[in-house]
Amino acid sequence: MSQGSDKNVLDKNFKLMGISAIILLVLFLYTLYKSSDYIQSGSYYFGIVFLLLLLSFAVFARFKQDKIQNFINKNKTDKNSFSNELSTVKENRQEELSSNITAVNSNITFKDVAGISETKGELEEIVDFLNEPGKYLKHGIKLPKGVLLVGPPGVGKTLIARAVAGEADVPFFYQSGASFVQIYVGMGAKKVRELFMEAKRNAPAIVFIDEIDAIGKKRGGKTNDERESTLNELLTQMDGFDGDSGVIVIAATNKIEVLDEALLRAGRFDRRVFINLPNIDDRKKILELYLNSKHYEFDLDRLAHETSGFSSAALATLINEALLNMIKREAKILESQDIEIAKNKLEFGKKDTLVLSENQKDILAIYQASKAFITKSKVSLFDEGVKKIDSIYPSYNDLRENIKRYLSGSIGVEVIKKEKYAINSDDLNKAYELAKKIVEEYKMAKDANVLIEDISNDLRSLLSHNATDINRLKNIMLKNEVINSDDI
Ligand code: ADP
Repeated sequence: MSQGSDKNVLDKNFKLMGISAIILLVLFLYTLYKSSDYIQSGSYYFGIVFLLLLLSFAVFARFKQDKIQNFINKNKTDKNSFSNELSTVKENRQEELSSNITAVNSNITFKDVAGISETKGELEEIVDFLNEPGKYLKHGIKLPKGVLLVGPPGVGKTLIARAVAGEADVPFFYQSGASFVQIYVGMGAKKVRELFMEAKRNAPAIVFIDEIDAIGKKRGGKTNDERESTLNELLTQMDGFDGDSGVIVIAATNKIEVLDEALLRAGRFDRRVFINLPNIDDRKKILELYLNSKHYEFDLDRLAHETSGFSSAALATLINEALLNMIKREAKILESQDIEIAKNKLEFGKKDTLVLSENQKDILAIYQASKAFITKSKVSLFDEGVKKIDSIYPSYNDLRENIKRYLSGSIGVEVIKKEKYAINSDDLNKAYELAKKIVEEYKMAKDANVLIEDISNDLRSLLSHNATDINRLKNIMLKNEVINSDDI
């Protein structure tokens, strides 16, 4: 309502008040005149005073109406501005939620991703599907809706997902898992819905959820309603679109074992791509990529060798730091002194860079060589986990074989180094879990500890008889950071 019309209404009200007071006064005096014999003096004066007060208030209000109007207006504006502020905050929150859901057009392609050729190979199919869906759909082939990239930080999971979007020239929707649960209660699920709605509207498109473990952790135990409702919404959304809708969800995690099984079921993230820390060849390619068109005078092969344990991101930072140092020296050629300074900075400054001494690398190489020897399959220096027998109805021997595979690394080190080392508790835990399952669920043995000890003794004798072979494989591992099946 405008201020002018407010003033008119007030003016009218005051006039009405004045007229009513005058009419009342006249009526009162008339009644008094007619029945003065019966009225007691107290109530007479009281009535007169009340009416006079009413009348004088009406007259006062009529003449001061501008001030009263201003006072009322001021209160109204304060209230309005408060509610305006409130709705602006609400709008901002709303905007904050929806503005996060915007796609970018990725200008990154596979050319920008060095090394990890196996990973690229696995994702090329998806690029091809997005480019030519008809080729697949006419044969009734549906691609997985979800691809889970599993690997330690900085190995290029985000980069490769962006490269898939760039190669296929489709919009890329990036969300970090944490961003769903760090917002207000009930908003996580809403945001998931909005994300999928936007992606479907812009299909074909890639939805990338980084660090999916922030929402996809196993349910049960300590409950977190917000995370659970977000996860449920994600599951519902993934079930709710067809493989031919053109939306492909890529998620990244470095801990697949903590993910809720529902996420890994068919029709959800049923394709998994493992990316390890780069091996020596990969590192050389990554270094070459970042040194492209720069002048340098140092041995690249040696640097690739010396940087084992560095993630791809750490290598990119290493070259960047070295270049900064070169500029500081006011030089034009990158030299090994720049690299050394950069390496020192990185090694001391970053906890996620795994820097191994020669002895530690030796231990890791024996550990992986023993695994390669027992599993008779390709193993890289930084591989986690082992290749095991996956069978729907495993025999007792299959199960024993899997325990043997889990234990092979640690026992190999124990046999060759004549000392026990704490390397990978994950493998040991899996061995013990499986032994417990054999005893408690399948009732195939009486005691899990006895079973583990029995298998460990078998392994000790097998590996010590083949110590020469293990040492040979270790040397291959140290040289190439990978043992192929042909080497075994
Ligand atoms: P992750 O998602 O696995 O943590 P990112 O994809 O975020 O790792 O990688 C961080 C950065 O490291 C990238 O932006 C890129 O500069 C560099 N990088 C990672 N992997 C590669 C690679 N394979 N080739 C080239 N650069 C890489």
